[in-house]
This record gives sequence, C-alpha cells and structure tokens, in this order.
Amino acid sequence: MEDAKKLKRLVKSVWVFNWFNSCGFTEILPVVGSRWDMERFGMIPVASPRHADCLIIAGYQTEKSIRRAQRIYRQMPKPAVVIGLGSCSMSGGMYWDSYNTIKRLSDYIPVDLYIPGCPPRPEAILKGIMSIFREVEDHA
Ligand code: SF4
Repeated sequence: MEDAKKLKRLVKSVWVFNWFNSCGFTEILPVVGSRWDMERFGMIPVASPRHADCLIIAGYQTEKSIRRAQRIYRQMPKPAVVIGLGSCSMSGGMYWDSYNTIKRLSDYIPVDLYIPGCPPRPEAILKGIMSIFREVEDHA
C-alpha cells in the first residue's frame, strides 16, 4: 500500500497495464466494456508497462509467465500498484497442485490488493479498485 499512498501525489487517473493468462483474461472484460466501464473511474488501459501506474495480473501464472510478469513490473515507473485478480493469483486456484504453476503471486511481486473469485464478479473488481482509490485519496 506504500506505493498506492505515494501515487496520489502524482496522478488523478490511474493508467493500467493488464497481464492476463488463461481464463484470467475473461475476468476483466466486463469491467472494461461499456456496461461496467472502468474508465469512468479514471482507470485507463495502456499498451506499455513503461506508461503504467497500476499492474493487474489475472489467471494462473506458470513458472515461465511469472518471469515475464516480473520483467513487466521492473519496467513500470515507481510508485506502482499491483492488483492480483482471481483465486489463481492468491493460491493457485484450481491449479493449486500443478507442478508448473505458482501458488501465490506476492511470493514473486509485491501485491497491494487481491480480489478473490473464480472469476471475480465485476462488482468485486470495481470495489477493489475503488478501495485503492480511497486509500490513495485518504493520504492526499
Ligand atoms: S480464478 Fe478462475 S477464472 Fe480466474 S484464471 Fe483462475 S480458474 Fe480462471
């Protein structure tokens, strides 16, 4: 949360880079679309981690893909916020006993917020995102 606190001084909207594996991609689609419309809350998807304030990671991560995620995180300007989306990012989810998937994202990258669910409901995602904004706002 330390980075989230610092972020308030730097930005009004939050630029988001998404790193999704597997069915994790489907978790964010409703929120990006017109029905839930995350942009109305100032969440702007960007094409490069070098422009992003926030990294959303969803889906199970393999031993290979987590190295890519770490590389993405290193490229982000700091302070940066990381959100782990879905049960797979928290515990490995239904792949918890796979030989090839990691179990907990925060063992590899500093995570500010986990949003549970398989997949998380759009309401839960927006509530989680808003909790970051509130945290950021409280420390203006
Ligand atoms: S939490 Fe569920 S929906 Fe999300 S990547 Fe894992 S299995 Fe797929």
